[in-house]
Order: sequence, then C-alpha cells, then structure tokens
Amino acid sequence: MTAPILSAHNLVKHFDAGGFGPKRKVVRAVDDVSFELAAGETLGVVGESGCGKSTTARLLVQLLKPDTGSVRFNGKVVGFELSLKEFRRQVQMVFQDSFASLNPRMTMIDAIAFGPTVHGMSGRDATRKAQDLLERVGLDPARFGGRYAHELSGGQRQRVNIARALAFDPQVIVLDEAVSALDKSVEAQVLNLLMDLRRERGLTYVFISHDLNVVRHISDRVMVMYLGEVAEIGPAESLYTAPRHPYTEALLAAMPSLDPDKRTMEAPLAGDPPNPIDPPPGCRFHTRCAQAFGPCAAQVPFQHAIGSDHMAACHLNRAQERVA
Ligand code: SF4
Repeated sequence: MTAPILSAHNLVKHFDAGGFGPKRKVVRAVDDVSFELAAGETLGVVGESGCGKSTTARLLVQLLKPDTGSVRFNGKVVGFELSLKEFRRQVQMVFQDSFASLNPRMTMIDAIAFGPTVHGMSGRDATRKAQDLLERVGLDPARFGGRYAHELSGGQRQRVNIARALAFDPQVIVLDEAVSALDKSVEAQVLNLLMDLRRERGLTYVFISHDLNVVRHISDRVMVMYLGEVAEIGPAESLYTAPRHPYTEALLAAMPSLDPDKRTMEAPLAGDPPNPIDPPPGCRFHTRCAQAFGPCAAQVPFQHAIGSDHMAACHLNRAQERVA
C-alpha cells in the first residue's frame, strides 16, 4: 500500500455503563482498532449491529475522542500536528438519518453553503458553489434550492447531504449506513452517484453498512468487525471468495442469495453477540464459533498476515502457518 491518507492507530473507546470503583462497568465499544486507508480507495466496514462500526467511524472523524489511540491524516496526528478545523475540512461524514442531518429551518442552498461561509468563503461564492453541487448530485437548483428538508424525499435529502459534504472539497468521506434507509432503486442511484463522484474527484471512502452485497459492490477492501475488534481485513475479492476468519465465513453464509438453489435454511450465526460489557476471554467469537479449538477460549488471537494486504485475527491461520 502507498502511504496512507488516513489511518487509525490502536483506537480504544469504552463507554460508562454504571457502577463505582471496582464495580464500575464499561461497554467496550472499540478495543484496539487499527487500519489504514490509501488515497482513492473505498474501505467497506461490516459486522452485526453493536460491533463498533459506527463508534469507529465517529472516532475516525473525531466526533468522539478516543480513550487511547490516534488518527493520522497524511501522516500528521490529528489534534496535534494537524488542527481539528483543517482535518474536518478534509474528512467529512454522511449519516444514515438524512432528515436529522439537515437543519429544518434552512433551505437546501443555505444548508450546503453554510460550511464554506463558516470557513471564510463569501456568501455569493458559497451560494454559487451550492447551486453547482446541487446540480451535480442530480437536483435542479431552481426547483430544489429553496426547499426545506421536509419537502424532499429521503433519497433527495441524502443527495443534499452528499452535496453538503462535498462543499468542503474534502479528500475523505465516511458514509455511515448512508444508503441503508433508502428504497432499493433509490439506493442503487445514490450508490452510482457516489462511485461517479469518487472517480471524478479522487475521493476516498469509508463505507459502513450491514448489507454485504452493497459493500462488495462498492469496496476495494473490506474490514470485518466483531465485538469492538477487527476480525479480518483484506481486498474485497479475496475476503468474499476466500474468507480467513470463521466470523466472516458465517456472515457471508448468512447473505441473502439471489439464486434460490443457494439459499440456506440454517442460520449460520446462532444467537446474538455476547454482551460488550463482559466480552468472552480469548477469542471474543469463541462462544459462537463452529471451528473453535484448543487455544480459542483462553488466548487472544493476533492479526495473522495472509499475503501482503490481508489479515485475520484467528488461531486457525496460525495453525495453518505452522503446518505450512
Ligand atoms: Fe474460531 Fe478460534 Fe478462530 Fe476465534 S480463534 S474465530 S474461536 S477458530
């Protein structure tokens, strides 16, 4: 990989869950998560709800402060070597709830122009930029520019949110379930728009979704999270065709197939993930893993490299390395 544009280093975030002193409990939302993003690539992030995907996204864009760990942008530690203001111009986020993301009292043009004016652009230039961006995301500025959020459909609002993110001319956009609330046909249109914008502007995306089909479609690499940790990370093609972590295998087996002959009747992932307040020792997946063996319940598996750009935190890979 070339020098990363954005990287997360040993991010940890625990939330208070009540109690005092030795009885104090914490939700271990994100536990020692590290990854890198190359300029122009899309990293998909998948996992069941509560696995830490969204908390990781918020730590990455500095909406949340990590307990420990750091984020680097172009090699500079954010908040120390690079100011938060400059970082936020370069790294934008689009959320799932398109309505809550927009100020209900602002017209769409004002909503898009707001960011650039705060960063010093004249009102006239910011309005012109907002009109251009509205047009670029497929909404006629003359028709939609003066409307308020409640006067738009979910898909139209999400287009405005993408335009709002682009108004800063960012290099990275983090999309947290950004198309999940949309109808399938609208979702496909917004995905195509995102891919066109990435090509045109050389954007880098972090694309978080529970939908593995969509993630495969848009991502160059994919990171699989389980109970606040990275289970596997690698190129989308090899991760989908030859997963190296039993949790990834189980997630893929649970994917709805369009081929009726390939539909599975058995749930490959039994039960819910364990409580993140008290995660299992050893491999956190061992309580649900069909392939668990000797060391799994006691020893934490480290990230084992599989080739140059693929890693999985599973003892099976170590066992296979030994055999090899
Ligand atoms: Fe399963 Fe053991 Fe691998 Fe964990 S380390 S995923 S329990 S085989």
